[in-house]
Amino acid sequence: MTSPNPALVRDVEERRTFAIISHPDAGKTTLTEKLLLFGGAIQMAGAVKGRKASRHATSDWMEVEKQRGISVTSSVMQFHYRDHVINLLDTPGHEDFSEDTYRVLTAVDAAVMVIDAAKGVEAQTIKLLEVCRMRKTPIITFINKFDREVRDPLDLLGEIENVLKLQCVPITWPIGMGKTFRGVFSLLKNHLVRFTAGEDRLTEDRELIEGLDNPELDELYPMEMPYVRESIELVQGATDPFDLRKFLAGEQSPVFFGSGVNNFGVEDVLNALVDWAPRPQPRDAGVRMVDPFEDHFSGFVFKIQANMDPRHRDRIAFFRVCSGRYQPGMKVLHVREDREMKIPNALTFMAQDRVIMTDAVAGDIIGIYNHGQLHIGDTLTQGEKLQFTGIPNFAPELFRAARSKDPFKAKQLQKGLQELGEEGAIQVFTGEFGNILLGAVGQLQFEIVAQRLADEYKVDALYESTDVSTARWLSFPDDKTKREFEAEQNARLATDVNGNEVYLATSIYNLETTMKHWPQVQFHTTREMN
Ligand code: GDP
Repeated sequence: MTSPNPALVRDVEERRTFAIISHPDAGKTTLTEKLLLFGGAIQMAGAVKGRKASRHATSDWMEVEKQRGISVTSSVMQFHYRDHVINLLDTPGHEDFSEDTYRVLTAVDAAVMVIDAAKGVEAQTIKLLEVCRMRKTPIITFINKFDREVRDPLDLLGEIENVLKLQCVPITWPIGMGKTFRGVFSLLKNHLVRFTAGEDRLTEDRELIEGLDNPELDELYPMEMPYVRESIELVQGATDPFDLRKFLAGEQSPVFFGSGVNNFGVEDVLNALVDWAPRPQPRDAGVRMVDPFEDHFSGFVFKIQANMDPRHRDRIAFFRVCSGRYQPGMKVLHVREDREMKIPNALTFMAQDRVIMTDAVAGDIIGIYNHGQLHIGDTLTQGEKLQFTGIPNFAPELFRAARSKDPFKAKQLQKGLQELGEEGAIQVFTGEFGNILLGAVGQLQFEIVAQRLADEYKVDALYESTDVSTARWLSFPDDKTKREFEAEQNARLATDVNGNEVYLATSIYNLETTMKHWPQVQFHTTREMN
């Protein structure tokens, strides 16, 4: 490689790309809003309030979402903080959309984990952390809602360590909680930041008291201080000091306490992102690793989203830049289709607004208008045949057979499902069995797909139950085994939207029997989407 371009190096070094992971209701949306406030992406506190009040109206683009008051879509927000460009990738909170979240996590370099201090580690947090662990993603932990009656911080740290198997290093420590929440003591800077309630502040006006042994603390908080000192001594005795290398390897997590809704402790998280989280990292592109400082542009699609704006019937492919620099109108190689394509006006996203992107480097996410030519997992380069790896597809657990109510609209149904399948909204299987088979991880996916078929493709879909209970992707040691297996199991085989062969089992027992009969054949529960 020739020596890297200094301007590109500088721009890449400034990037931080992360997602927030949490169980629903832990405070992800609130934290997002406060982070944007610091980044200046939302100029006035009033705008935040307005956004909150109309949150579901603005971010939810579908009727189903409005009815249920949940956010199905993920979006991307870019803002500036301390001379850095921060890309925050939002993830859907509802567990029915966990597949979407897993894919978003392949496009980040770090994650912020939000824990509700009253509830501790919850189910969705466990699942999401597993995905982060697979990729060794560095995690910053924010323990939220200390303005409420919550659990003892020692107890919470113990639970994170035991359940998530993640070494915790508290960087701040809470004093009191609920009505007597006094603030957080910075173990790094050796001062107390006093808590003041209020969500409208634009900056954290910090009132500081230096030193843990400062008698001023005892005067102010005679009830709390003895226990606080004891806890800090205990926790410092029991935990290793913060080690940047361990954090970057995904083995250790710095922990911050606070109250998102009061904008308290949020800036600590943002500073940790800037100071400790990694700049865009090299990525595995199959044939070789791609360095973010390489001059040639490359990246991959990790998400496709339809109808972000109901006035435009468009789909947007979310693309993570992995190297080089995006410039408007540039021509790239669409590796899967082996043809040149032009990236017209790519978009970036400032909170809810779309902005035309004029410049993007590794770590940035661009939105590319898409009429079906881009699939999840697709790689674009400046000529080299690379294929970025690691975007997972999970074996669905719920199945329905779909058919059109109006038999003359079977073609529309097929087209609609093919496109929705490519988008990753649902998994679509076709085979000898006639009706199109749909597979989902969450029940809600079926409802969303029915709604979208009606709205976007003008076809009413009927769902019927099937005898399929689980699916596995197949791989064969040789063609002969493949042909023999196909001849015997023809009725139980299907292909997914990308043409991969899938075995459809009626039960786990059925699956196990077939696996025993065919030890040479591999049955996969996940598949990379490319
Ligand atoms: P999400 O589902 O993770 O996005 O959670 P939200 O940000 O929507 O928060 C869920 C609820 O918890 C909302 O009612 C918030 O107002 C509330 N909440 C968030 N942060 C705090 C906090 O620090 N303290 C208190 N008391 N409530 C909070």
